[in-house]
This record gives sequence, structure tokens and C-alpha cells, in this order.
Amino acid sequence: MVNNRTCIISGGLFNGYSNVIDLDKTDTLEDIVDQLLHLLSRDLKKLNLNDLADSIISIFFHIHSPETFGEALLSENTIYICNHC
Ligand SMILES: [Zn+2]
Repeated sequence: MVNNRTCIISGGLFNGYSNVIDLDKTDTLEDIVDQLLHLLSRDLKKLNLNDLADSIISIFFHIHSPETFGEALLSENTIYICNHC
């Protein structure tokens, strides 16, 4: 089954980057963040922006809302990934 959710980075250098994550391939909120960052890195490397791709690892990305993975599964809302606090 597919449980697609739009995820958008909010704030910082990568503000506005968005992609679709299949929540059925994740188990935690951290997995969602990791998958979005993996896609961001892949997209930057496609453009040969390797230094920018490497800079992702030094930034702390996190989700405020939903507060739990269960809430993420139950809601169809866009998930925002914060990196400015
Ligand atoms: Zn934050």
C-alpha cells in the first residue's frame, strides 16, 4: 500500500524544498526526515551541487507537528521539516 504525504522544508538554506514521502516505507518521524533529506541530497547531486549536498549533514532537521508518527499516519496534512530552531 502507498500512504503518500507531501513534506516541505521550512526555513534555512533549503526552505521550500518539497517532495512526496510514502509513509508506509517509514517507521518514525526521524525516518520521514531522513528520507526527505536523502531525496534533497540526490536532487542536489543531480545538479552537481555536491558542496550543498554535503552541507545537509551539518544541519539539524526535525518535525514539530505532527508530534508522533501515529498522528502523521492519521492526518493527510503536509508535513513541515524545520531547521531554524
Ligand atoms: Zn524547529
